[in-house]
Amino acid sequence: MRKALLVFISLSMSLALQAQEDSVATREADSLRHAFGRQEVKPTTNRSSSYADTLDTGNPAVKVVLYDNGTYRFVKDPAALADDKVFTENWDTRAVNPYREPDPIPDQFSIWIVDSLDSYACPNKTHPRSLFGYRHGRRHQGIDLPYPKGTPVPATFDGKVRISDYVGGYGNLVVIRHANGLETFYGHLSERKVQSGDWVSAGDIIGLGGSTGRSTGPHLHFETRYKGAAFDPSWLIDFENGTLRHRLLKIRSWYFNPNQRYVQNVDDEDEIFRTDEEDRIAAEEQAKKDAAARAAAEAAAMRYHTIRSGDTLSGIAKKYHTTVRALCRLNGISEKTVLRVGRRLRVR
Ligand SMILES: [Zn+2]
Repeated sequence: MRKALLVFISLSMSLALQAQEDSVATREADSLRHAFGRQEVKPTTNRSSSYADTLDTGNPAVKVVLYDNGTYRFVKDPAALADDKVFTENWDTRAVNPYREPDPIPDQFSIWIVDSLDSYACPNKTHPRSLFGYRHGRRHQGIDLPYPKGTPVPATFDGKVRISDYVGGYGNLVVIRHANGLETFYGHLSERKVQSGDWVSAGDIIGLGGSTGRSTGPHLHFETRYKGAAFDPSWLIDFENGTLRHRLLKIRSWYFNPNQRYVQNVDDEDEIFRTDEEDRIAAEEQAKKDAAARAAAEAAAMRYHTIRSGDTLSGIAKKYHTTVRALCRLNGISEKTVLRVGRRLRVR
């Protein structure tokens, strides 16, 4: 019984971890939101069964906890991430931008936004009030979301709190670093509910909405940064619908231009920003496609006739609505060539 259970679980686990859209992982993620981080891994109080075992998965930060009634759930283990370079290098609990000598950012690259547990919580499903970019001559590195004072602010993704402090214009600021290298900023909070070094899960309450710092009324100032460089959070989140735009986010270096706002149809711009090497590869691929299409068209157009006793070139030409001259040219023969029975003549 136990063995069968394990087989079932490891099977469903590997499916869940491999197939990013798997519904088991998505469902389990909900029950995990508050189990990650500062709490111990133990059965929640509404479960009648007791803890039985813990299993490893392919992902070092994800474990499976088994209960003796046969139920299980996925649990994130922050200890497995504690030594990860992302959480040790350029780690500073005070500096807003701790990346003093950042690696050069490639023209474009992709990062996974959510892992197999699908952990994501929208900061606020709303119409953003003030957008990314320059505003009254002042650089605005994030987006402002209407946020009544005292409203709980959730962590957008799993991660580790880097800053929880009062920081100038930001007022009460919480900065969370995520395993993919992204950082999310939550500014103007009336209260901070976490401390530097805390591991948080998407959806955990990290503070309350407010108007501290340089602010004219309660709102949440939300930023997304990669290695210290801010980009419009709208590339990532559709705030109007409260949804993530991508599970795998493609980031182009020009997103970090301080006046580059999100634009909907960016795929057209891919061509503009293609490198010479990418142009060359694209041209080669196009040439291969063209050649294949030509060959296919020619193959589709060819027709053959197998010579039978009594066939003549003029008879064949008539049958296939062509001319004797054309038949001779196609087959490299002359009108005087003897037609052997069984020979295949190309007629088109
Ligand atoms: Zn703002």
